[in-house]
Amino acid sequence: MKKPINQEKAVCVECESDYFKNSSEMAELCPNCAHELYGYPNCEHKFDNGNCIKCGWNGKTSEYLKNQTEKITLETESYLIEGKENERFFPFLELEFNEDVVYENDIPKYYLSFSEDLKSAYGIGKWIMTELEKNNHDLRKTITLIGQSLNLNWDIFSTNVGKQIDESWKSEKIELTILTDNVIEKIKTHYNNV
Ligand SMILES: [Zn+2]
Ligand SMILES: [Zn+2]
Repeated sequence: MKKPINQEKAVCVECESDYFKNSSEMAELCPNCAHELYGYPNCEHKFDNGNCIKCGWNGKTSEYLKNQTEKITLETESYLIEGKENERFFPFLELEFNEDVVYENDIPKYYLSFSEDLKSAYGIGKWIMTELEKNNHDLRKTITLIGQSLNLNWDIFSTNVGKQIDESWKSEKIELTILTDNVIEKIKTHYNNV
């Protein structure tokens, strides 16, 4: 006898939880890890007796991912601005349309990426899409406001605009922290503890 397809179980390679195979868009990951790692829409979990009744996940991934601060190294270029010769400007010209860099006090610090259809952000809950909606899809405004809510000076552009010095271009490797809900949570916790 064939089991109903929605009861077919698999083991997630990331969190090692059982999950229902057809609840995830990825072959080897539960919907929660597929969301955390690759930005797929998450299951709207409903837990009963320790497991989600919709996807079967045991709720334990988040503990593991919580301790991870993911980094990305971008190869990019920088240049100098006339009159500000001790500061380098990082325009990140090679970013894709769905990638952004968040500057904190003009210093590139976080990396933010959206899915190709721009309907979800990697590692960030649906709330960011709601915020974007509120701000007429103005990402710059949204990021600035999120920064303000954390008492931080955030922007997706550097304010170091001015006349660039042509011969000052140079290759750079910049390590950025991937901006996720967990990272935002950490920033909040840090502020509460200071
Ligand atoms: Zn998982
Ligand atoms: Zn679930």
